[in-house]
Amino acid sequence: MAVGLCAVLSGAPAYGEQGKAQSEFPVATDMRLEQQGETVKLTMALSAVVAVEAWVQAAPDRVIVELPSTNFQIQPGARRNAGFISAYRYGLFTTDKARIIIDLSQPATVVKAEARALRGGLGELVIELRKTSRTEFLAEAAKAKKTTTAAIVPMPPKPPGETRRTVVIDPGHGGIDPGTVVASIAEKSVVLDFGLALKQELEASGRYRVILTRDDDRFVPLADRVKIGQDEKADLFISIHADSLTQAKDVRGATVYTRSDRATDAEAAKLAAKENQADAVAGLETSEELQDVAGILIDLARRETRTFSGVFARNLVDKMGASVRMHKIPLRSARFWVLSAPDVPSVLIELGYMSSPKDAELLTSGEWRGKAVGAVGAAVDEYFARERASVGQAAENRHAQ
Ligand SMILES: [Zn+2]
Repeated sequence: MAVGLCAVLSGAPAYGEQGKAQSEFPVATDMRLEQQGETVKLTMALSAVVAVEAWVQAAPDRVIVELPSTNFQIQPGARRNAGFISAYRYGLFTTDKARIIIDLSQPATVVKAEARALRGGLGELVIELRKTSRTEFLAEAAKAKKTTTAAIVPMPPKPPGETRRTVVIDPGHGGIDPGTVVASIAEKSVVLDFGLALKQELEASGRYRVILTRDDDRFVPLADRVKIGQDEKADLFISIHADSLTQAKDVRGATVYTRSDRATDAEAAKLAAKENQADAVAGLETSEELQDVAGILIDLARRETRTFSGVFARNLVDKMGASVRMHKIPLRSARFWVLSAPDVPSVLIELGYMSSPKDAELLTSGEWRGKAVGAVGAAVDEYFARERASVGQAAENRHAQ
């Protein structure tokens, strides 16, 4: 049987470890950071005692803390850095694991990583780090645990007799990887809301079978997203993101990207490089984009797929342009890993710039989302209508001969 990774059953509630809903995971609250001389201690209150593992990783230098799936309810005012800890983030990593990733500004080693049992079945997570030399840090990192990739979950097979077109919607980032964060808005939530709304829009027509690569706040590696599109034999793959530019707060609007080996411009290249870093953000050490498979048939398939991706991208620019604000160069391309399936027409939509206060307001508004989702739905309809028309034309031509 074909297996996919982290696949999410369409329409089913989000389940993690052993069928548990996210709301049933142990809860982590009350995050504290304390520095004492060469030591920094990170603690969190836990609703249960859980198994904890921690190890260091070099380039970028950080500490990875792994625990079972956890529902992080960290207070908004929690301290964000202390001593050699420059930042940290937390969230779901695989179907049964969560991570806390601690960024280091100087080499440090893990002195303690445990969940202490408290009264009443409660626990306290204690991570104690101490400053160390570069040499020692690198030696630690070299012998540290190498991460497994995401847990394998069987894919829902395409039901026999299914004739509807399959559209895979891929909300970017998730879980331990928040994507761009501006003020208190995380890209991962903006694009999930959009993905869920788009699924509803497409399903309402009754014409499409719609699969989401994630339908809750979890991390999905890039390779798995591509694989879900291929395993599901998707007729279209739509990745959803929301960009940001630190320098220019006045740059606004949505952009549609397709894959190309050479980027249309420097900004597109930079953006693709950033989005391709998603696995590294989650501390996935082993992931690498598969080398493009060579071969005449694959080349033909890829060329055809790129043509279809281009047609759909132009439909998107037309339809979206009629109802929401677009970037001044709305159609661009770059080497996005998530668009690499040679057999699945794929596009990536950057909904807007979270760095623009005006765009950020729109991206979180239900009214804007409704308009944008409607436009994407119309582009999908047009794409398949044209395809049917050209198939019909071909049949007529054959008939005439
Ligand atoms: Zn993104």
